[in-house]
Amino acid sequence: MLSGSGWMESQPIPRLGIPAIKMADGPLGVRNWRGSSAVTNAATTVPVTSTAFPAGVAMAATWDLDLIAREARAIAQEVKALGRDMILGPTVNINRVPLWGRNFEGYGEDPYLAARMGVAYIKAVQAEGVIPSVKHFAANNEEFERHRIDEKIDERTLHEIYFPAFKAAVEEAGVWAVMSAYNKVNGLYCAENSNLLTETLRKRWGFRGFVISDWGSTYSTASTINAGMDLEMPGGEPMRIWLNKPQTQRDGNGAGWLTADKVQEAVASGHVTQETVDESVRRILRVIITAGLFDHPHAGGGEVDTPEQRQVARTAANESIVLLKNIGVLPLSAAHTPKIAVIGPNAAVARTGGGGSSLVRSKYAITALDGIKEAAGPRADIVHALGVAMEGEDAGKPAQELREEAVAVARHSDAAVVVVGNAPKLEGEGFDRKSMDLPAGQDDLIAAIAAANKNTIVVVIAGSPVTMTKWIGGVSAVVFAWYGGQESGHAIGDVLLGAVNPSGKLPVTFPKALQDSPAYGHYPGENRHVEYAEGIYVGYRGFDKHNIEPLFPFGHGLSYTTFDYSGLRIAFPTVSVSVRNSGARAGAEVVQLYLQPPPSSVDRPVKELKGFGRVMLQPGETKTVSFTLDKASLSYYDLAIHDWVAQPGRFTALVGASSRDIRARGEFELPSSSPIPLH
Ligand code: BGC
Repeated sequence: MLSGSGWMESQPIPRLGIPAIKMADGPLGVRNWRGSSAVTNAATTVPVTSTAFPAGVAMAATWDLDLIAREARAIAQEVKALGRDMILGPTVNINRVPLWGRNFEGYGEDPYLAARMGVAYIKAVQAEGVIPSVKHFAANNEEFERHRIDEKIDERTLHEIYFPAFKAAVEEAGVWAVMSAYNKVNGLYCAENSNLLTETLRKRWGFRGFVISDWGSTYSTASTINAGMDLEMPGGEPMRIWLNKPQTQRDGNGAGWLTADKVQEAVASGHVTQETVDESVRRILRVIITAGLFDHPHAGGGEVDTPEQRQVARTAANESIVLLKNIGVLPLSAAHTPKIAVIGPNAAVARTGGGGSSLVRSKYAITALDGIKEAAGPRADIVHALGVAMEGEDAGKPAQELREEAVAVARHSDAAVVVVGNAPKLEGEGFDRKSMDLPAGQDDLIAAIAAANKNTIVVVIAGSPVTMTKWIGGVSAVVFAWYGGQESGHAIGDVLLGAVNPSGKLPVTFPKALQDSPAYGHYPGENRHVEYAEGIYVGYRGFDKHNIEPLFPFGHGLSYTTFDYSGLRIAFPTVSVSVRNSGARAGAEVVQLYLQPPPSSVDRPVKELKGFGRVMLQPGETKTVSFTLDKASLSYYDLAIHDWVAQPGRFTALVGASSRDIRARGEFELPSSSPIPLH
């Protein structure tokens, strides 16, 4: 039972009636793919399509916990409909460097936001009787040498930045499974790191589920079992075939260490006790029982990609779009801009997700071009030109000709929408991006279009920040659409034409240049070692600390309406503020609470996100948003006692529309003996 029976199944024991746990890759929908692992579909060997939801980072940009719960519930229902039991997600790893190939899968750079999103996802999946697997524990923050890289991370940084989303998954959501990461943390592979898997996960946080390895992340028998790693994946014949491939070996994958013969040998030689093996089996069984797999096996045969699930995908895509810049051009009106040029390598091709194990094959995917046509209606004339081929793709025409065509189309239009960004082959699992710049030729295309049309709007489809300084001053608007899943094109069209008022906020800081990013110089490491020398100063914590002006700050996002903040009240531990829609259109605002700690004996960030609330407001409407502080909001991780400490003193509460757009502030005192019990 400690090793898989196939690529995506644990070992069943028919003699005892113990079922296999049948898995499906995620977390952005149920992944289906060809080849041996297409057995994701229980009923047939033909791969099925499923709903492609927006990427994790896009979900984080909604700051909408109810919405991510709806998304996760829909995914869990699709898992069951396909006769599977487990979804390999959510990904809660922190966006440490803009170049990480898998930034799109996670929930951005802030541990509090990542924790809130992860908990909501996990609870919704488990409520459906489906096993989630929060991943990758811990600190999987780069793909470069992902199987061998050894990360040196200090204890405080682990607890304050890289652990919180996992801790919350265990303590608040009672997560049933945790996937260990490929990389090493402080000298040990995560799959044989008892500090991570036993001391932290189980003893400190009280985890009761099972730890599953990442696919091919195991390198030993006794050390792995003794560290607290319960289920090795993949297993069986598919594992053996895969392990023998030269590419697998070149990549540095390990596997095949927890097979029955090897485990029995380790027990016989006294390197592993029978009790330890039994405990791992008990953990797996406990989850099988808790998930109801004995009583209600997921037989499959249900409907996938239902109208309701598509609607969730569409709402999520709508809410995830971040309007970064707008100097009066958006929303477009079909009456004033009847001729719209839609240009660029991501205009007529849907890029629903980043590359790798999270990429979903959907039944359909709406392109930006189609979405704009639909939103603009029959009165508008939408013209299209490619402008430049996506790097690595062949457009069958010389670059010069493509550019000239696009410029001509833009010149004779009332507005030009340039849809640029990355593609799964350029941003995905298994490799990092080489640079923060847009792929070849896209910057020049934008500049050329902006010179030809004063109403140029740039739409970026990508999973992490891209360099914009080369052209941002010359364009009228910038819309960041992430990888928005199968409904992304509808969302882009509705935002550009005004049917949807944008409300997304950045879950990650956009630097002007890669060099400004806090981990710059400490990535990707040398000789398979990387030092997380920036410590806790990741993302906006680093920009604040070093007083660096970002291009767009964490939490930033514009709307077609305006919001006024007033009446900040602090009745410790409650902070509340009133927000009024002072514009003419209905819209949603994400109100953010940051805390500035009192002067203290240790170095602490200038401010940290400790609460947020998303409110929908009609024109003229006012709502009050309240936050409740707890011990975690006030604490830092103290190395002297190896635990969290809430140091008394005067805190400042900063409430705003972004981390650098603070609209109200107030102070409060945390007394040395708090009159209010803090949880
Ligand atoms: C990825 C995991 C994924 C697993 C199974 C690994 O390469 O890192 O996130 O769940 O493969 O496909």
